Amino acid sequence: MKVYLDNAATTPMAPEVIKEITDVMENHYGNPSSTHAFGRDAKGVIEVARRKIAKLIQAESKEIIFTSGGTEADNMAIRCAVDDLGVTRIISSCTEHHAVGHCLEGEQSFKVDYVNLKTTGEVDLAHLEELLNQPGKTLVSLMHANNEIGTLLNYQQVAKLCKQYKALFHSDTVQTMGHYTIDVNEFGADFLTCSAHKFHGPKGIGFLYVNKDLKISPIIHGGAQERGMRGGTENIIGIVGLAKALELANENILDHQKHVQNLKSYMIDELKSRIPNVHFHGEIDPNKSLYTVLNVCFPPFENKSMLLFLLDLAGIACSGGSACTSGASTGSHVLRGIKADTNRPNARFSFSRYTTKEEIDYTLSKVEEIVMKSVEAEV
Ligand code: PLP
Repeated sequence: MKVYLDNAATTPMAPEVIKEITDVMENHYGNPSSTHAFGRDAKGVIEVARRKIAKLIQAESKEIIFTSGGTEADNMAIRCAVDDLGVTRIISSCTEHHAVGHCLEGEQSFKVDYVNLKTTGEVDLAHLEELLNQPGKTLVSLMHANNEIGTLLNYQQVAKLCKQYKALFHSDTVQTMGHYTIDVNEFGADFLTCSAHKFHGPKGIGFLYVNKDLKISPIIHGGAQERGMRGGTENIIGIVGLAKALELANENILDHQKHVQNLKSYMIDELKSRIPNVHFHGEIDPNKSLYTVLNVCFPPFENKSMLLFLLDLAGIACSGGSACTSGASTGSHVLRGIKADTNRPNARFSFSRYTTKEEIDYTLSKVEEIVMKSVEAEV
């Protein structure tokens, strides 16, 4: 059996999305900047998609800027806050995705303060307020859900504090857009980021939501696309795929959530009963934890680096943490950031609405077999 449980890295494209983008490839190939009928047609297709996306998150069309994905959208939010909006200090956390974290390292043009985290990965709101109560035009950049441990941000409280202290607020919603109903007005952030491949859309496309009251300039220069906010011929295939994927994700979103949360809760209970001394990194309370991510901390054994390899041999795809850092030898900055015991083996299982109970049962049996054999070999 082949089981794909690495949906936080990327998801398979929905068949409906493939159908829709195939139609664009076949029938809407004009350059959206061309003034002839083919160009106007392609431009029209993009604007319909933009309106659809804006409506799904209660934004205005002009607040959506298409990008090459979550990384570019995160970079853009940070660069624009500093270059265009006078930000001189950024408050963030040490467990952000590298798309944010690496933008903050070694920068001379602004100061960075890191907010304290609890061992669950939750933000210490009292410390955040202490930091906000210091002078300087500030951007708070905190992710909605951590991609490695699933811990959710209390964004309502963060947005309230940002408003109180007149700070700008950016949240990386790459792991939550398409998984929760996002209403930009309720969220209260100035910038939100989205990546289509995390919810069964194509790779290489995303957007940055920018509150309409903010005046920003492009970080990618060239043509006047995206109302002058991002140069480069639009990825029309990706844009249409993103809109369709977000629409599908939002249809029956509560059913998707319930289905996946049930599988996650079942996996937690079964792991606890089958493997002694098993723990979970980050929050697992359904109200505080992203329902698509479960980071399991296994009892210690010698050949811990073999765990993911043995699971892969058994046909199960999962990961140690973020896909973007899997080539790095330094281990997970997120687990280090929450002071987790990194000497113990761990695996991140991440689910999608297509994941089945049979797949979880197969995974549980293989995980139990591999881990218990490794633990017993030590005794
Ligand atoms: N932010 C988070 C939280 C992510 O999980 C990812 C993808 O792994 C990104 C940003 C980057 O998104 P993209 O792959 O679209 O560049």
